[in-house]
Order: sequence, then C-alpha cells, then structure tokens
Amino acid sequence: MAESLSWQDVLGHEGNIERLRRMLQGGRLPHALLFSGLSGVGKRKAARILAAALLCGREDAPCGVCPSCRAFLAGTHPDCIEAAPESRGKGTRVLRIEAVREIEKKIARRPLLSGRFVVLVDDADAMNEAAANSLLKTLEEPQGAVFFLLVTAKRAALLPTILSRVRDMHFGALSPETIQRALLARGVESAKAHALAAAADGSIGHALLLLEEDGLHIIDDAAHTLFSLSALDLFALWAKAEELGKLPRERAEDWLLALSRLLRDMLVLLAGGGALCHEERRGELAHALADFPEGRVFSQLGLVREALRRLQSNASARLVFEGLLLRLRDA
Ligand SMILES: [Zn+2]
Repeated sequence: MAESLSWQDVLGHEGNIERLRRMLQGGRLPHALLFSGLSGVGKRKAARILAAALLCGREDAPCGVCPSCRAFLAGTHPDCIEAAPESRGKGTRVLRIEAVREIEKKIARRPLLSGRFVVLVDDADAMNEAAANSLLKTLEEPQGAVFFLLVTAKRAALLPTILSRVRDMHFGALSPETIQRALLARGVESAKAHALAAAADGSIGHALLLLEEDGLHIIDDAAHTLFSLSALDLFALWAKAEELGKLPRERAEDWLLALSRLLRDMLVLLAGGGALCHEERRGELAHALADFPEGRVFSQLGLVREALRRLQSNASARLVFEGLLLRLRDA
C-alpha cells in the first residue's frame, strides 16, 4: 500500500493528534519530541505525518501535493534526515555515533526545500552511549530550524539526560474495537477480525503480524492443548513442550497470552457471563467448564503468568513449557 500523508491514517490516538495539530497551528511545537509506547500502535506513522507537516509548512497537516510533500513521499526530501539502527549480528540493532555525526553534518548546512530540517530517529533506544551523548550535545544547543522526532518502544532504555531534553508523547494501547474496525476495513472477515483484535494486545502491528502468520492457529492450538490436558500422558506432554519450545520467542509468548485469555474467559463464564475476549469460542468454553472449577482456573492462570515471566527472562522455552504443561494438567 502506498504511503499517504493524512492524520486520518493514524489509528486512534485522537488526543495526541489533536495536541500535535494545536502545537503546529500555534507554532509551539517543541524542538525535540519523543514518541513512546508499545510497538505497533502507530507512533512512527504519527511521527512521519508530523515530519511531513513541518516540512510542508502548512498549518497543521501536510497538503500531500506540494514539492515538499511529494519529495517526502518519494523518500528524497533533502531536509528530512532519517536515522535508524543497523543490524549487528545476533539480532542486536545499534544506532552508532557515526549516524549521529552524519545528522550533525547535515543540519549544519542550510535547508534546501522547506526552510527547516526534520530529523527522524526510529528505535532511538538503540543508540549506544556514545551516540546518545553526541545527540545530547545537539539537542542542548538551541536550533531554530531543526525539529527532532524520536521514536521508541523502549522508553526506559533511553538515557535520563536524553529524556530530560525531549517532550514525551506517550502512545497507549489501542482498544480491541479500534483494531477490529481497522481489520474489517482491510477486508478481514468478522469473526476472524474479532479474534485477532482480542489477541493483539492493543497493537495493530501485532494484529497484522498474527494475520500474516496465521496467528489464529496459535489460539486454536492453545485451546486444544488446554482441553486435552487431562488425556495427555507424560510422553505426549514432553512432545508438546518440545514443539512449543521451538516456536520463535514472540509466538511462544502469543501462545501463553492466548491461554491466559481463554482461562480468563472461563472465569467470566463461571461468574455468570459477560463479554468474552474470545467470543467465537463461547460454546466450546462453556462446554469445558465441567472440568474447570473456579479454583483450578485461578491456579492455572497463575501458572501461565509465571511461565510468561520466565520466558521473558530468557529461561529455556522447552523447560518452561514442560513445567507448565505438567502443572496445568495436575492443577
Ligand atoms: Zn505539502
């Protein structure tokens, strides 16, 4: 899909967008802004539209058709400077001091098209200390014609000195309804959109990834495993743990999150009903309640949370799942 330049393209976050537009209108936009929050909620999209608006120079939104906007869309705007981390083996991504020096060199010149520079730094948390200190010097010097837009999903990983120099704009989780609407607008079928929105943890990026990778299969698998636990012997348990242990870490977390939503849905049903995360499984969940008294569901939920915590602290996934399945069965 070709990029367009409209605030309407940002899903949700109406309050933040309203604030940004007001600051643009009043010429009160701070020279360094931080877009922080969960990954996949639209921070980068919002930063890009703000960048285009600043470069376009119209009041509070990019026009989309002027030479500046067209250059921005083509990725060739001479006054838009982008920096993102580079991969350094083993999946670690680093934004190095050379990249920051490159920015400094560019903004020392005169803007060519827009009368100002916009510097977009994606994954700003990937700056190493040297890069961050170098950027800090640039942020400390008053720069009339430069706007810095930093984007991060890991605010806590930024140096406090950087945080003290930027205005923080937090982008929270999107509601399942917002995500569901966006999926429907993309032509995703209704029941599937509902299930994906429930599984997306407030992130449209996560929902789209699940859509792409057949993430609903993960929910099916979690449900199937939960309901067949009591029939599993030790060998079947080990085999299942081994299979789950081979999932990429994020999918393994998705599997555990699906399990915890299913258990919470059972608690809702046990309490007499109400809206479920996985409404599409209401019949199946209600049917299973006979084997899942409240006390058992509560302890199973605790076990799943503990497994998630261990997985996130880099324990061996196979061992985490082995322990979990065994305890879930016997809970
Ligand atoms: Zn324009």
